[in-house]
Amino acid sequence: MSLGQVVALGAQILDVLGRPVDSIPPGQGSARLAEIRATAAGTAAGTAVDLAKLGADVYAVGAVGDDLLADLLESAMRGHGVDTGGLVRVPGTQTSATILPIRSNGERPALHVPGATRLLRLEDIDLDRVASARVLLLGAPDSLGWLAEHGLAEVVAAAKAGGAMVVVDVLGQGSPRDLGRLRGVLAEADWFLPNGEQICALTGRRDPVQAINDVLALGTACVAVTLGADGALVATRAGGEPARVPAIDVAVVDTTGCGDAFNAGMVAGLLLGAGPVDAARLGVACGALAATGLGSDAGIADLGQALGFLRDSGPHGAETADRLCALAGSETGAGAGRRPRAADRALRERALAVIPGGMYGHQAVGLLPAEYPQFMRGGRGARVWDVDGNEYVDLMCAYGPVVLGHQHPAVEAAARAQARLADCQNGPGAAMVELAELLVATVRHADWAMFAKNGTDATTMCCTIARAATGRARVLVARGAYHGALPWCTPRPAGTTPADRFNLGYYEYNDLESARAAVAEAGDDLAAVLVSPFKHDAGFDQELVEPAFARGLRELCDRTGAALILDDVRCGFRLHLGGSWEPIGVDPDLSAWSKAIANGHPLAAVLGSDRFRRAAGEVFVTGSFWFSAVPMAAAIATIRALRDEDAIGAMERAGLALREGIVDQAAAHGLQVNYTGPPQMPYLTFAGDRGHELASLFAAEAVHGGAFVHPRHNWFVSAAMTGDDIAAALAATDAAFAAVRRASAERDAHLAHN
Ligand code: PMP
Repeated sequence: MSLGQVVALGAQILDVLGRPVDSIPPGQGSARLAEIRATAAGTAAGTAVDLAKLGADVYAVGAVGDDLLADLLESAMRGHGVDTGGLVRVPGTQTSATILPIRSNGERPALHVPGATRLLRLEDIDLDRVASARVLLLGAPDSLGWLAEHGLAEVVAAAKAGGAMVVVDVLGQGSPRDLGRLRGVLAEADWFLPNGEQICALTGRRDPVQAINDVLALGTACVAVTLGADGALVATRAGGEPARVPAIDVAVVDTTGCGDAFNAGMVAGLLLGAGPVDAARLGVACGALAATGLGSDAGIADLGQALGFLRDSGPHGAETADRLCALAGSETGAGAGRRPRAADRALRERALAVIPGGMYGHQAVGLLPAEYPQFMRGGRGARVWDVDGNEYVDLMCAYGPVVLGHQHPAVEAAARAQARLADCQNGPGAAMVELAELLVATVRHADWAMFAKNGTDATTMCCTIARAATGRARVLVARGAYHGALPWCTPRPAGTTPADRFNLGYYEYNDLESARAAVAEAGDDLAAVLVSPFKHDAGFDQELVEPAFARGLRELCDRTGAALILDDVRCGFRLHLGGSWEPIGVDPDLSAWSKAIANGHPLAAVLGSDRFRRAAGEVFVTGSFWFSAVPMAAAIATIRALRDEDAIGAMERAGLALREGIVDQAAAHGLQVNYTGPPQMPYLTFAGDRGHELASLFAAEAVHGGAFVHPRHNWFVSAAMTGDDIAAALAATDAAFAAVRRASAERDAHLAHN
C-alpha cells in the first residue's frame, strides 16, 4: 500500500550523533560513548525517511555537497526507500551536517554546518515531479538561500496547479523579519508545522495561540505547532480556537528528529484522509516514537506499528487509531487501493452552491455510476489520480486531448519555455507560423491553417468558410453525429430555436443513397457536407467508414461545388498523422481539429485547401485566447513527438493488446460483447443491454478497480500506455466482467422466476 507521492524539498542533512555526552573531555582527553550513529535528518530528509517508513513514495529534492557525507546521506535515505533522484551534488561545497552530542537526559546541543542546502536552484527541480505529487513538503524554506526568494513561488505554484497539498516547516528559530520573507510561501501553504519556539520567534509573540492566529492571517490554511511535552496545537482558518492534542509519555532517549517525525505522522494522517486533529494525533505518536531511540530515524517502524502505539496511548488515541485504521484498511480491502472520496464529496458540495448543477457538459458525472470521481488531481503518462489520490489507468484521456500521455516531457518543456516569455499577447508568437507550416507539411489535404480554441470553434468555422466560399447556406450532417455544443449542433435542444438548425440537412452515416437524397433536397443551396472519420456517436457501437461512402461524398461535393468538411476533432492525430481519411485516399476541402493536437493544451485548428483560402481570409473569426502562444508551442512539440516517437503505432499496438485482452475476458466470462471502433478509440457494449445497464455496471466496476473507462462514450488509448498499464487495466476489466456476469445471472434467474 502506498500513501501516495510526496516531494520532500529542503534541508537534506547528515546527522552524526553520539550518546551519552554530558561533557566534552578537557584538552586532548577522550571519552567512551555507548553509541554513535549517522542518520538522514533535517526538515526534508528526516521527514522523508519517516514518511517512507509510514508508506509514502517519497522523492527527495535538495542540494548536497560532493563528498562522503552526501554518499552516506543518500545511502541512508535509499536504505529507507526514499528516491534520492532529486538530490543535486554541488561541487566544492560540503553537505549540510550536524554533530549532536546527546546528553543522558535526551537534550541535544547541535554543532551545525549549513553547507549545500542553500545552493539549490530552480533549474535543479523537476517541476513535473512536484506537480504530480500529492504533497509538497517544503522543509526549511528559511534555509534555501537564493531560491527562497527567486523561484520557490514557482515550485509552490507547480504543486498547487497539480493539486498537491503544500506543507511547510522551518529549520531555524527565525525572527519577525524572516516571517516577512516567508509570507509568500505561507500564504499558499495548506499546512505550516513549526514548533512552539519557532512560531513565537517568527511572529514576535509569547503566546503560541496568538502566533498561530498571526500565521493564519497571512493566508495559511492550517497550522499545527509542536510543544514538546505539551503535545501539539492544531488550528485551521475555518474554525475557532486551536485544538490541543496531548503528548504521549515515553522514556526519552533523544529528541532529535521528533519534529520531523511529527510532520511525517501528520502528513501520513492527512494522506489517509484523516481530519486535522486525528492527523496531529498520529503526528504526536510518531514524534514520541522517534524520541525512544538515538537519531532522526529512530522509533518508527511502519504505519501499523505507529497506529498500534497510538491505540495503546489512551482512549482518545485508541479512537483515532481505529478511524485511521479504517481509512488505511479501505486501501487494502476489496477496493484494491481505493481511498474514500472525502475530497471529491466536499468539492461537489461546494460546487453545487456556485456552479449550476455542480458541473455541466460532457465531463459531468451526474449520469454516471457513483464510482466516478468528479474532480481530478493530476496525471502522468497513462495514469491519472482523482482528488482523493485514487489512481486509474487512463482510458479516456480527457475525452481525447491527451494523446502522448499526461505531462509528456517534450510538450511540457516547450509549453514552459514559451510560458516563460508570455502566453497571451497583443499578437501571436512566432509559434503560430511554425505550427501552420508543420500542419501543412503533415496533413495531406492542407494548404493553410487557422487556429481557435475548441472543436466547436473549428467545425463552426469550417461551415462559415464553406458558406462564404460558395455563397450558399445548407450544410448536411449525419443524423446523430456530434459536431459541438453551439446552438446549431448541440445535441440538447434547451435554449435553441428552430432557426439555429434551419440550414441543416441530414443523411445516414455510411449510406450513400441517403446522402444523395439530402444533396438533391438541398439543391443549389448546398454549401457543405460535414462528416466524421468514422461513426462514433455516443452510446452506440462504432462503425468504421466504408471507403466507397467516403469517395461517394467526395464525388457529390465535387459535382455540386460544395465543401467536403472532415470533422477530425475526435480522431485527428489518433488514427493517422496525415488526416484520418488519408489512408483511404479521400481528401476533404476543410478539416476541423482540436482535442489531440496539443496533447491537452487548449487549441483548435481549421485546415483547408487552396480553393477555400480566399473565403477563409474573408470571414471574421477570432477569440481573446485563440492566439495564445503556449498551446501553439505545445502543439508543435506534440506533432513532432507524434511523428518521431511513432505514437500512432504505439497507440495502435496498445489498443490491439487491450482489445485482445478484453475480448478474451468477455468470452471467458461467457458474455457477449461488441468491441468496436479502431483499436486506439474502442467502445464496449453488451449484447441485449437495454439502457446501458450492463455497460454502466461494467464501467463502475472497472473504475473501482482502477481502469477509467466510460459506459456511453468511446474510450481513448494514449501512446504512453505501457505493458504494465495494459495489465493493470485488464485486471480491472476482468473483475468488472465478473461483476457483470454475476448481475446478468441474477437478472436471468429473476426473469425465469417471474
Ligand atoms: N466534433 C467532434 C467529432 C467531437 O468529438 C467534439 C468534442 N467531443 C467536437 C466536435 C466539439 O469539440 P469541443 O468540445 O472541443 O468544442
